[in-house]
Amino acid sequence: MRAVLVTGGAGFIGSHLCERLLQEGHEVFCVDNFYTGTQENIAGLLSDPGFKPVQHDVIFPLHLEVDEIYNLACAASPVHYQRQPIQTTKTSVHGAINILDLAVRLGARVLQTSTSEVYGDPLVHPQNEDYWGNVNPIGLRSCYDESKRCAETLFFDYHRQFALDVRVARVFNTYGPRMHPKDGRVVSNFIVQALSGEPITIYGDGSQTRSFCYVNDLVDALILFMNARPVDPGPLNLGNPGEFTVLELAEMVLRLTNSSSRLVLEPLPEDDPKRRRPDISRAKSLLGWEPRVPLEEGLKETIRYFRKVLAGEIVSELMLRVSH
Ligand code: NAD
Ligand code: UDP
Repeated sequence: MRAVLVTGGAGFIGSHLCERLLQEGHEVFCVDNFYTGTQENIAGLLSDPGFKPVQHDVIFPLHLEVDEIYNLACAASPVHYQRQPIQTTKTSVHGAINILDLAVRLGARVLQTSTSEVYGDPLVHPQNEDYWGNVNPIGLRSCYDESKRCAETLFFDYHRQFALDVRVARVFNTYGPRMHPKDGRVVSNFIVQALSGEPITIYGDGSQTRSFCYVNDLVDALILFMNARPVDPGPLNLGNPGEFTVLELAEMVLRLTNSSSRLVLEPLPEDDPKRRRPDISRAKSLLGWEPRVPLEEGLKETIRYFRKVLAGEIVSELMLRVSH
């Protein structure tokens, strides 16, 4: 049993990761400032004596005694990371420095959840880890993209300067139960809209593509990467290489929900990447991992979850928190 710190542990991916680590018998410190995370996400974990929630903002230093650290703190939805862009940059950059300093002091291994956004609006397709990206440094997405890139720089400099054992995962679009109904990302938006009979909001003409990874597959990969031998700092793409247009996703959600919601076209947000698909060859060979859950199956699980949320079976407070 190890003591593991998960920052952003009350968020969508973080809460699944905490749950899995507890199932494996570890003691889990969940640090979160509840910017986009919720108490409901971790409510089911509170009765586990190994679970230690800590309300804290990672832009300030923290002191905990742990053996390894997963650094997930940072809002992932464009709607929310753009709501407080300076806080977003501070979370990724100051947060990385604080977490890396803690890791150095403890001699702890530390994994960073970086993002496919480091590739920006990619000119190479599919994206492999050697591609340096095409990123606007001054746009609306820059607070996220550039601060995540800077966090990668910090992880590799701590690795080189202090021989710190780091792992940098580049996560591609991930979805599943416990996404917030008002998270603003495409999968949660489409499902909530379809189940509520509201119009499905297609930004642009819907021809832009994304690759969607079910959260259980991603959590498998994060844990495998943390424990991987031989030691490899990455960066490592983690995602599902299946590629779908936003329009195809909308049609699949409508079919699986039996919804008669109509499609409405809305303006494409600034710097919205046109194509995104991970080349996961490196993850396959290092971890022996590839995603197992097809999009349709993962969507069915996610739809089941949102049906319960909308029926008030999963704490109606979820619907009230986090305004756009
Ligand atoms: P999320 O918004 O659900 O979770 C982020 C968590 O971090 C929330 O609980 C939030 O309250 C917390 N947080 C934010 N700022 C904080 C701060 N300053 N101090 C402490 N806690 C803070 O998002 P998610 O989808 O679970 O994403 C988790 C991580 O994975 C993020 O680092 C994100 O960049 C990365 N990622 C996610 C995706 C995806 O598709 N979900 C894709 C690429 C990368
Ligand atoms: N999108 C959309 N309708 C929505 C939400 C998002 O068409 O209601 C589009 C968005 O413009 C982008 C894609 O879906 O092209 C994925 O958006 P998301 O916010 O989920 O993630 P990201 O852009 O960060 O990959």
